[in-house]
Amino acid sequence: MRAVAVYPTKREVRVVDHPEPQITSPTQARMRVLDVGVCGTDRDIVSFEYGTPPEGSEYLIIGHESFSEVVETGPQVSSVKPGDLVIMTVRRPCPHPSCLACREGRQDFCYTGDFTERGIKQAHGYMTEFVVEEERYVNPAPRELRDVAVLVEPLTIAEKSLEQLWMVQRRLPWDCPDDPGKPPAHCRRAVVLGAGPVGILGAMALKVEGFDVCVYSRSANHAEKNDIVSAIGGQYIASETHSTEQMAKIVGPIDVVYEATGASSVAFDVLKHLGANAVFVFTGVPGRNGPIPVDTDDIMRNMVLNNQLVLGSVNAPPQAFQSAIHHLGIFAQRWPETLRSVITGRFPLEHALDALKSQPGGVKNVVAVAE
Ligand code: BGC
Repeated sequence: MRAVAVYPTKREVRVVDHPEPQITSPTQARMRVLDVGVCGTDRDIVSFEYGTPPEGSEYLIIGHESFSEVVETGPQVSSVKPGDLVIMTVRRPCPHPSCLACREGRQDFCYTGDFTERGIKQAHGYMTEFVVEEERYVNPAPRELRDVAVLVEPLTIAEKSLEQLWMVQRRLPWDCPDDPGKPPAHCRRAVVLGAGPVGILGAMALKVEGFDVCVYSRSANHAEKNDIVSAIGGQYIASETHSTEQMAKIVGPIDVVYEATGASSVAFDVLKHLGANAVFVFTGVPGRNGPIPVDTDDIMRNMVLNNQLVLGSVNAPPQAFQSAIHHLGIFAQRWPETLRSVITGRFPLEHALDALKSQPGGVKNVVAVAE
């Protein structure tokens, strides 16, 4: 079968012929891949800056944002059946008995770093025609989400962040004033940094939770991003025209920052404007661009005097996949066209390299492996 593979030592990326995987245990399912999304992590992998092939393999099959159809199940599989549409998680646990997180099925909190990630670290990914996976890593999705289900994985980043946010904010035991019919965060303000897929999907999730949402972004196509953010009832502010101070003044006291760019200089600039008792969530992985001057006294002073928290969040557990599938259903009802407009390019497998290279003002490129 065909697969998109990266050879880090040869510094090559190409479509290869890879043996088709077969079920080898009663708890596995075999899937036909339909769609695979492309993100910044994939672009880093094909630039040989990130990613590791499986032990003994010269290449790594990329792709971790998947959407597929079950074609066969082992005799002990009960939660999915052939014909079901599914999304697979990315990270697999480390083997160490001492890693309590992995032993609990929360490898997104792995202590040892010896986890594997499909399409990223020591495990082949999904940018191919067929995959086999253990049932516990396979999440069923409703057929109505066929066109957009490939967005589930990037949305899980926000879902895990939200789960963490609500958990740490239990330190503030008061709720927004009761307002019948309004969602829980209706008196809260969130700023999303970045208008890529993770930012836009995060903004939608925050909006559904009730937050007043501002997306602050540096972008090549402000008009398009502005349209998307306005359509979901958020406010779009361009970083080229507004400094972080000006943005913070417009927004008012910020309760949450959801960072989705990996641009550390902007992030630390915004950190200075965080409101009282607020949380700043980092999800982007910055490149190594060298040190920048930061007023650490100022930041530390603010954080202490305002009871602030900074939280890093990576990867996502199965619960986050379920919440993402649920939320995506809400987005699809509330903002059907806007949600579809997040997918800006669809490429056949043979042209996967174009999907990885081009981002001409678009939001999310998808490799459509099968119909
Ligand atoms: C993926 C995560 C992964 C992270 C680090 C992200 O692009 O969505 O699942 O843990 O990269 O490798």
